[in-house]
Amino acid sequence: MLEGCTTWPTERAERYRRDGLWRGESLVRLLADAARVHGPKTALVGGGRRLNYAELESGARRMAAGFRARGIAPDDRVVVQLPNTPDFVVVCFALFLVGAKPVFALPAHRSNEIRHLCELSGAVGYVFPGVVRGFDFPALARQMREDVASLRYLFVQGGDGDGQDAAGPARGGDAPVPLAEVDADPAGGGDFPVPDPSDVAFFLLSGGTTALPKLIPRTHDDYAYQVRAAGEASGLTDRDVYLATLPVEFNFTWGCPGVVGVLRAGGTVVFAEDPTPEHCFPLIEREGVTMTSVVPSVVQLWLEGAEWLEDDLSSLRLLQIGSAKLHRETAEQIEPAFGCRLQQVFGMAEGLCTFTRDGDPAETVLTTQGRPISAADEIKIVDEEDRELPAGGIGELLTRGPYTLQGYYRAPEHNAKAFTPDGFYRTGDLARLTEDGDLVIEGRIKDVVIRGGDKVSAAEVEGHLLAQPGVARAAVIPVPDQFLGERICAYLVAAEGVEPPSLPELKQALHDRGLAEFKLPDRVVYVEDLPLTGLGKIDKKALGALARGEALPETGAFIPVGEAVAR
Ligand code: AMP
Repeated sequence: MLEGCTTWPTERAERYRRDGLWRGESLVRLLADAARVHGPKTALVGGGRRLNYAELESGARRMAAGFRARGIAPDDRVVVQLPNTPDFVVVCFALFLVGAKPVFALPAHRSNEIRHLCELSGAVGYVFPGVVRGFDFPALARQMREDVASLRYLFVQGGDGDGQDAAGPARGGDAPVPLAEVDADPAGGGDFPVPDPSDVAFFLLSGGTTALPKLIPRTHDDYAYQVRAAGEASGLTDRDVYLATLPVEFNFTWGCPGVVGVLRAGGTVVFAEDPTPEHCFPLIEREGVTMTSVVPSVVQLWLEGAEWLEDDLSSLRLLQIGSAKLHRETAEQIEPAFGCRLQQVFGMAEGLCTFTRDGDPAETVLTTQGRPISAADEIKIVDEEDRELPAGGIGELLTRGPYTLQGYYRAPEHNAKAFTPDGFYRTGDLARLTEDGDLVIEGRIKDVVIRGGDKVSAAEVEGHLLAQPGVARAAVIPVPDQFLGERICAYLVAAEGVEPPSLPELKQALHDRGLAEFKLPDRVVYVEDLPLTGLGKIDKKALGALARGEALPETGAFIPVGEAVAR
């Protein structure tokens, strides 16, 4: 196991193996087996390319040999940030072959996040796109190489008919290497190492409970099991055509059962460049898409689109919706509008997934997030003292199981708080169980805004706001929003003697600090002071009540003084 990662306790690991959950199946084997069985069948469609299984496997092997020839070694971490294209899959499987560990960055990440991911992982490599919608990733990459001591190798997508703009300016000796040139004969350089299935395969990102994302090590064994169990719970077969609508780097898209599950089953993955119905519906018709996974805010757009777009969506059999709360009124519209089944999904990059199932009563599918995908998932609902609550009680959801992490990467202090002594992960979600044992998410205690499907750490945004000269104090909270579910609202106390910055000025300042767009505040309210709890912490519940227009408890000097313009 890679240094800095936490293994499962021996007793549980042995049980998972004995019970046939962990089968010693590496992701490298998973693809090799699929290529052997499904060779000429289409595996990936996107970026103007169609790759069959044999081409995907041989392409990954050639690229692996290319990575190795260019200096990437086993256990090296490589940050991968690519749009939804087959390249993402080829790059990841090539790195798995080398024994290097991809670290998944999101397409929306900018210098603030990429620098953090490179530093935290000690990355030696960074794979990124060319210029996308005016954003110059090669320039960002060069900056990162200057700033981060470990970062030596830059690889750029582009210039190979993949729909991206060219690699960018000036290809000197030190220039990023185009992915198309990461290519060598796999027969040279010796066999690739056989991965230890209990070792880390790649790193996912945590959904922002701390100011900056933490890294979640996912092992070959645990992920192979997750995609297998998720595939069973969604009735996945080799006839399925899966549309990767959301960013492929999301655990939801990559493995619930997602891209990896579909490849394991021998189906086809189609990549959407964006989640709009105008783009996705024609793809569904053209490719005969049978299933996809989306967040509630995307489904709202799709419901509107279904009213006026004329594409034939009759191939769809399953729409998975998760990552944020799905309201019953929206859930009720799915089956009539799309003629397919709805599957509610609760999941997290840390592991635990719960799904509603085919055959569940309609009420269960409309109002719950279903049951864990594995009988070996253990869940508990507890009070503030970690005491288990009686059936139906609302409390924090704790979990452990065969694909739920045992510890974040290189984060011993945080791990000490994030897990109970007996190894249950504290999800930070508030939930209850119905009489039938289905999970219902009721809220959360973690300080996160879920904007669309994007998770935004309040602490991170507060830190950037406090760095502005005109801001003395800051508190970020979610406010309900009809379309995105939640938006980011910042309550600020202006610094004395400085003109308080307006919302557009703050957004610009945070943008200039390299913060991803989806983390910029949607609303700013200036107040005389922030309300405090009895323990002297900022009382975010009181701020939430204020945002909802409810009467406030006694708040002393806390008087709203004005609101900057919302976008
Ligand atoms: P991520 O790791 O980014 O997928 O985020 C995981 C978090 O998203 C969970 O801990 C929940 O807070 C939230 N989440 C995921 N699925 C749902 C859902 N179906 N309903 C409500 N919240 C959800």
